[in-house]
Parts: sequence; C-alpha cells; structure tokens
Amino acid sequence: MRAGMNEWNNADTLVQFSVNTNSKNTAVAEQRADSWSGVCISTVSGVTTLRFDIILNERNIRAYAANLDKTISAVFAHELGHVISLRDNPYLYGGSYDSLMNYIYDLNNFSKIPEYDVISVKMMYY
Ligand SMILES: [Zn+2]
Repeated sequence: MRAGMNEWNNADTLVQFSVNTNSKNTAVAEQRADSWSGVCISTVSGVTTLRFDIILNERNIRAYAANLDKTISAVFAHELGHVISLRDNPYLYGGSYDSLMNYIYDLNNFSKIPEYDVISVKMMYY
C-alpha cells in the first residue's frame, strides 16, 4: 500500500501523503467476501476531507492480479484518489482515456499516476 501512496507523492501534483500512526484515518487489507477490490469511506466538509477509512479486499484482488504488489498499489492509489476528491469515471467518453479512476484501467500494468489524473488534481487544487 505504501507504494500506491508514494506514486501520488511522486506525481507532478502538490499531493503528499505520509504515514502517521496517530492519525484517525485508516487503511487496511482484509479478506472480504464482497466483489469490490477497494473502498474509501470519507467524511467530508465542503472540500475538506476530515477523515477516511480505506479497505482493500485482498481476496478479490488476488482473483485477477497478475502482479499482486503492483495491483494492490494501483487499487490503493485509486482509493487515495477518492481521498483527494477524484471520483470514479467509468465509461465516460467510451472509457478510452488513461485514468486510474476509470473502472477499465488495467491495474496489472500500473506504474505511475496517469497524466489524466494528474491534470484532474491540478484542475481542482491549482
Ligand atoms: Zn473508486
């Protein structure tokens, strides 16, 4: 999961995540019977995220991951995208653009935050 966090830190945005064991935010990997790979539950006030809880469903991720570390990193980076207010963007424009927030994004080939998502963050915060 730390790798997914570092991908945001290395992207060309002002976004920086860090681990703080005193934080009320949580990020865990669990074995869930659910069909989702990750979920982010956020408490938001206006444009400020007050708290988030991310759960990765390792059982579901293992079902399709060609490279488990890379896929977990991608799913976690996707959920962190929600923390900074990116939304899922399924199938818009035919789903043809390269976005980590796109449901058809190839998680097995994740290597960095796609430019589409970098631009989306810049449009919100710059
Ligand atoms: Zn999502």
